[in-house]
Amino acid sequence: MRPTPALAAGGRTVANLLSATEWMLPSPASQVHTISVLPSQSPTPGHEFAFSNLTTSLGNGGGKGLAAGSPRFHVVRDDLLHPLANGNKPRKLDALLPLLRCRGATDIVTCGGCQSAHAAAVAVHCAEWGIRPHILLRGEQLDIPTGYNLISLMFGNVTYASRSVYAQRDEMLYEHATKIAGSNGTVMWAADIIGEDLVVDEDTTDGNGSRRVMIVKEGAGSVQALLGVMRLVEYLSGLTLFGQDEKVHIVVDSGTGTTAVGLALGAVCLGLQWRVTAVMLADTLERYRQQEKSLVSDFEKLYPGIFHGMVGNDTHCSLVQWVERFSPRRFGKVLDGEIVMCRHIAQQTGILLDPMYTLSAWEHAVDLCRRDSEAKVVMIHTGGTLGLFGLAQRYSPQFTTGSD
Ligand SMILES: *Cc1c(COP(=O)(O)O)cnc(C)c1O
Repeated sequence: MRPTPALAAGGRTVANLLSATEWMLPSPASQVHTISVLPSQSPTPGHEFAFSNLTTSLGNGGGKGLAAGSPRFHVVRDDLLHPLANGNKPRKLDALLPLLRCRGATDIVTCGGCQSAHAAAVAVHCAEWGIRPHILLRGEQLDIPTGYNLISLMFGNVTYASRSVYAQRDEMLYEHATKIAGSNGTVMWAADIIGEDLVVDEDTTDGNGSRRVMIVKEGAGSVQALLGVMRLVEYLSGLTLFGQDEKVHIVVDSGTGTTAVGLALGAVCLGLQWRVTAVMLADTLERYRQQEKSLVSDFEKLYPGIFHGMVGNDTHCSLVQWVERFSPRRFGKVLDGEIVMCRHIAQQTGILLDPMYTLSAWEHAVDLCRRDSEAKVVMIHTGGTLGLFGLAQRYSPQFTTGSD
């Protein structure tokens, strides 16, 4: 028998931890849409399915008629969390930003690619919280500022770093932070701040006007980012759609893999029978396994007993099932037909995907729900939709041709 969360860890449970955490988002809620998958009549390759959104489309009579009994999956619409800084990025900042503010952060430094959704989310949410965001972007300013680049420029203080400087990320971040801190300010790595150690020391009150600069690594791939994702799992497990003993198979696309690990760790710590499949987009299997191991061990160090209280001390197996993209490609490249596919899905369901990230999770969700009838298949929409603005500059012909 699996232990109930209340008995695990001598009463120390993930539910206690989550309820004691201060959050950035006022609520963990997200809309969940149900998508039906039907064979399509179209002879075009890559279009063998027709989709409809059963939640929002009246024409489907809530799944009666054609769509009755058809394979279906659910989409957690985290892309709707915020108009500009959406998806998994606010989830990863959900516990981190309040923690940094509580430690007296006046300035936050982070970095990313030119169209980084993480950088834009840090800029937007810091600005909202009265913390000055400083964003280091790789490369040079685009001729036309657009997408996440534009959002970073509007909300943050952007500096561009040449590729060679950017290659030494930690040195670059630290040097920039030191410059901002000035001679009487302080610099700290966000990842070094211990969650439990929440006492605000005397000098965090910023009374003397000196700056406290905190550095958030690229992609916020650290242990504090897991909590917001675990909060999402707790929220989902409370929905009647996924009752406590329901088998659920979560699908998510992965950059650093932090979101996937947060989902899997959340499910284990909450005692749920949920599986997590993560599509690897930016790294090798070995690196994702490494990232998982290091995040889980950091979590165990920071909040001892919660994870091992659930699984015991002898588990070394992977929590996340890491899988390849159906059509592997170098990260950043868009394959023929993918933009058309995104348009096709957008027009049929009202859900916007992008070929860099979320399309790959959608494809896996479609495949799983057609094969796996036992578990409810749930795709987490990780956002990234403003990335299309950047892609539309690079691949403009693909956006302007091919519609009927
Ligand atoms: C940032 C991002 C990811 C990567 O998330 P990780 O937690 O780093 O794996 C995935 N999808 C989208 C749309 C993103 O913007």
